[in-house]
Amino acid sequence: MSVSRTRTAEAAVLRRQDPELADILLGEQQRQATTLQLIAAENFTSPAVLAALGSPLANKYAEGYPGARHHGGCEIVDVAERIAIDRAKSLFGAEHANVQPHSGSSAVLAAYAALLRPGDTVLALGLPYGGHLTHGSPANFSGRWFDFVGYGVDAESGLIDHDQVRALARAHRPKAIVCGSIAYPRHVDYAFFREVADEVGAYLIADAAHPIGLVAGGAAPSPVPYADIVCATTHKVLRGPRGGMILCGAELAERVDRAVFPFTQGGAQMHTIAAKAVAFGEAATPEFKAYAHQVVDNAQVLAAGLTAEGLAVTTGGTDTHLITADPAPQGVDGRTARGRLAAAGLVLDCCALPHGESRGLRLGTAAVTTQGMGEGEMAYVAGLMARVLRGETDAQRGRAEARELAERFPPPSAG
Ligand SMILES: *Cc1c(COP(=O)(O)O)cnc(C)c1O
Repeated sequence: MSVSRTRTAEAAVLRRQDPELADILLGEQQRQATTLQLIAAENFTSPAVLAALGSPLANKYAEGYPGARHHGGCEIVDVAERIAIDRAKSLFGAEHANVQPHSGSSAVLAAYAALLRPGDTVLALGLPYGGHLTHGSPANFSGRWFDFVGYGVDAESGLIDHDQVRALARAHRPKAIVCGSIAYPRHVDYAFFREVADEVGAYLIADAAHPIGLVAGGAAPSPVPYADIVCATTHKVLRGPRGGMILCGAELAERVDRAVFPFTQGGAQMHTIAAKAVAFGEAATPEFKAYAHQVVDNAQVLAAGLTAEGLAVTTGGTDTHLITADPAPQGVDGRTARGRLAAAGLVLDCCALPHGESRGLRLGTAAVTTQGMGEGEMAYVAGLMARVLRGETDAQRGRAEARELAERFPPPSAG
């Protein structure tokens, strides 16, 4: 109540001073509240998380770590960071947490900096199969500074090709193996990757940016017992502020901390760290556990609905919040499908498919589940998507249906 009153007051201040920007914020708020947010990496933070983000902690410089800062006046923000660290450690059962990475990519950069030297060989999921830019893209620091070898997925099943992972590890003897993806809808077998890493003497880095929120809610297996370093984001299923996080064992703690600051980052963003603490607090509740399981139930119903409508859902379904599908059986390619769906108020992404050159669709249920939608709504969304793709429902009619559904479930931080 008081939070939303404060936000209204803040919006009024911005409107008086800068109506041009106030209009843009309002327009985005309305876009989020009147279309369906099916982008797999997006979510709606709580008003409490937004309150921490929009707080005076945004004014504070705090290079270094709690108790060892390069700036004065850090005694209060130090407590915020200690709370964030303690909550992350207990939420994920980790010996050490670094909550300073500005993004998921920054967390991966720091993990590499902690364990590798330029020129080292790294084995990771190839970009055409769902690897992230930080897993060896030539357009990214990772591809420039390290020698990446890519493993893939089985063209038929869409599942990670474990035999190939083992064979490539034996042939290339990488310094590190990365598991984690932007598009893989199934649980990763962390025990398998640990075994291969041990066999070839490699570090194991789990880039759990997507599933870490499911891990927090007990709806996906945890990489923490298996990986040397776990990289994550805090803004995907985990539903916190935009940012990154690193979890590791006590023996790597110092190397990881130095790799974040001063090696790859400057001052910590204390407003974001406070917001991460708020999100970790929320993620430790029974409500979040129920949320995480509902996210998966919803994705499974949505995947089944899309399959029943004739789309080719990769791996035949999902274990997580994430679905990838080939719309080709509907007579459209991925890019055309994304455009047609966007025009009808259904916002999602394209992605690579395990086989061939064509693009598929990538979507997820984290945001719509935060809005309170359940299995019934997911079945409806599958039908709506299929009608739009087949051209049975035009953009205007689709947009009206998407809007009607979205308005029945107002998002907590865009209402
Ligand atoms: C989202 C994601 C990232 C990067 O997160 P940013 O905050 O956008 O930098 C890295 N790795 C994987 C696997 C991701 O899904």
